[in-house]
Amino acid sequence: MISEPAIRKIIVEPDALRHDMTHRILQKLPETPVQNSTENADIKMTEQDMGKETLHLLAYKGDFLKQCPGTRNYICCGYQILNLATNCPIECSYCILQSYFNQPDLRLFVNVEEGLVKVLDSIDKNPEKIYRIGTGEFTDSLALDHVSSFSSLLIPEFTKRKNVILEFKTKTTQVNGLIDSQYRDRIVVSWSLNSPFISTHEEHNAASITKRLEAASRCQEEGFILGFHFDPIVCHHNWKDGYAKTVELLDKYIDPKGIIWISLGGFRFMPELKGIIRRRHQKSCVLNGEFIVGLDGKMRYFKPIRLELFSFMQEKLNKWHPDMGIYLCMESDDVWKMSLGWSPKDSEGLSRFLDNRVEMIFG
Ligand code: SF4
Repeated sequence: MISEPAIRKIIVEPDALRHDMTHRILQKLPETPVQNSTENADIKMTEQDMGKETLHLLAYKGDFLKQCPGTRNYICCGYQILNLATNCPIECSYCILQSYFNQPDLRLFVNVEEGLVKVLDSIDKNPEKIYRIGTGEFTDSLALDHVSSFSSLLIPEFTKRKNVILEFKTKTTQVNGLIDSQYRDRIVVSWSLNSPFISTHEEHNAASITKRLEAASRCQEEGFILGFHFDPIVCHHNWKDGYAKTVELLDKYIDPKGIIWISLGGFRFMPELKGIIRRRHQKSCVLNGEFIVGLDGKMRYFKPIRLELFSFMQEKLNKWHPDMGIYLCMESDDVWKMSLGWSPKDSEGLSRFLDNRVEMIFG
């Protein structure tokens, strides 16, 4: 497991040099070799080397706030992504980012302070709308926080807005930046969880499940609201025992009353990821299983398997505590009803359910 990922090289694009964040980051890594890049340098990514030890500083030219792409024909949650960085040092075998990005390196967008002005302005212009925003979709939210300090930049801005929550989603134990902050309101700290077997064999540079939960417990003691994401749930040998063990560990470390939500998602992937997993992670077990092509073109477990996975998880979690905002990620109305016993019916319904959780927990 990594405490801090190894960074062997820094690439700085010319437009990054006019942002203070670039210089703050360079000062934090004085020993790391720096290469100045020419603008739009065409750095090719190879399948094996995705530049996971190279930090690449650049100014992002698009919108920082994006609607989560979700998936067509299934119920999605209306989440928004604050796009601060792309690619991730953690190296999960199943990571969809392996086929999603065609540019290598751990890319940090150093013009975030400028970009935030527009994001906060649109939040303030829609006081009736609840924004559920996360930074952990195109990277791990905290894996590079000791370098980027994104958490200390974002928390003071989001904590004072009453129509927003900001979620940091991670598989690390890097919570010092959060805990050092004086703010807690409107901030959710979430861990992606899995069975101990999948964590050990498929989430290569992630903290162990126990270490993740120790970090979560520390955040809870420090006053943070927590979230958890069992995603992707992988149907592997003795999966029931494995996921039950993780729920036992949750019970040991966490007070369930401080949880805003727990999502469940079965392993799913675009077909092109299959070859990449086979070549990059030859010992991986995640492709062993009965998959079908879903309505969105993604491979997903055959429906009876998904029903069994979700029913099992809901039963275990409900026995622990009956009200933790369990929801399914990218599933159909009938799978909701058959596995959880109810359905939000559509994406608007799921958004309302999660917005209500925000109101219930944060007011
Ligand atoms: S932590 Fe998330 S973003 Fe990082 S490699 Fe694993 S699945 Fe991908």
